[in-house]
Parts: sequence; C-alpha cells; structure tokens
Amino acid sequence: MNQKTLHKITYGLYIISAEKNGKLNGQIANTAVQVTADPPIMTVCLNKQNLTHELIDSTGRFTISILSQNTPLEFIGLFGFKSGRDIEKFTDVKYKMSSNDTPIVLENTVGYIVLDVEDKMDAYTHTIFKGRVVDAEIFNADEVLTYAHYHDVKNGKSPKTAPVYIEEDEPNFKSQSEAYQCSVCGYIYDPAKEDPSIPFDELPEDWVCPVCTAKKSAFKKMV
Ligand code: FE
Repeated sequence: MNQKTLHKITYGLYIISAEKNGKLNGQIANTAVQVTADPPIMTVCLNKQNLTHELIDSTGRFTISILSQNTPLEFIGLFGFKSGRDIEKFTDVKYKMSSNDTPIVLENTVGYIVLDVEDKMDAYTHTIFKGRVVDAEIFNADEVLTYAHYHDVKNGKSPKTAPVYIEEDEPNFKSQSEAYQCSVCGYIYDPAKEDPSIPFDELPEDWVCPVCTAKKSAFKKMV
C-alpha cells in the first residue's frame, strides 16, 4: 500500500472553536466536510487529546471559521501547534460570539459556519462530530486556504495529532546543507526558499519559528 496516495485527497484549513464555562478554545483542522444540503449537515474530525474535542464533546456546539489564503504561518501556529490547556488562544485574536455561544474568528478568515452537534462517531484516535448548520456567513471574497497551499507554498507542517499526519521520510527542500528544521513543529527553514535569502546562522538571536514560535535554538541542522 502506498500511503502517499492519501496526499492526493484535497482539503481546506479551518479553525474549529468551542466554549465551555467561559473558556474559549480553537484548533486548526482540515476535516470539515459537508455531508448533506437538506438538512444542512457537516462533519468534523478531531483528535481526542485536543481541548477543543473536550469542549465540543461536553457542550455539543462549535463553529468552523474558514481561513483565508493570506493567513500568516504564526496565526496557524497559534491555533495548530499550541494547546489551549497552556495558553488562552483568543487573548489577542479578534472574535465575536456566535448564535450558539461559540467564538467566530474575525481575522484571517473569509467566513464561518455555526453548528449544533447531532451525533458523533468513534474513530480510534479521533471522534467524528456530525453537526447541523444553524448559522453561516461570508465576510469577504478572499481566496480560501487549502491544505495543499499551506503545505506546498507556505511550507507548513501538520502536528502529530492531525488525521493526515504521516512521518516524512524525505523532506522536500532544495539546499539540504543549509536547511534547518524546527524540532517542535517540523518546519524547515531553507534559505534558498526565503526572500531575502538569509543563512540560518545570520538570523537574529530573537528570531522564532514562524509556525510554532519555538526559539532559534530549537532548530537543528539537516544532514
Ligand atoms: Fe516550529
């Protein structure tokens, strides 16, 4: 079996968010799928370890905020590579509360969909939540962010808790001897792909990983 065949499936990228007792949280997911039009039903698939999973599982409501193509990597890093058990993700993020009291992300998004959970299905490491759409709105005409664009153009990575995560045996980068990889999130800094093309050693000491904000010292030279 060639597991890389699964890379041929296309996805978007979204922030799935929820609220419980005043605690707001959200996470990046690529697994938001429309199932039926009438009634309007969607599913999302979330890792059981994630706080957002816990909040949705106990409250039965969530929002899908649709990311725009120009979303900075660090914004994706905030929602995709950090845990809401350690930080308050919404502290510096513009948001408003939806009709079912879940946070709608108002920056780097093109619109949102609000859902009430109708059912759920166990999927080993993950749970598939089936939700009925109770509200939806479009903010602007920006291009939406696809998983392919995030991966190929932004050089973004997936955390190990993502449904689509697989070990990369041969990283795709140009100048192997000059590339450094973040030991936290897997992001590869390759000067050949940067503009301006600054060697890793010459980056300022307070430079941080654009995806997960790990320190420069968390990067290891690729061999
Ligand atoms: Fe990183």
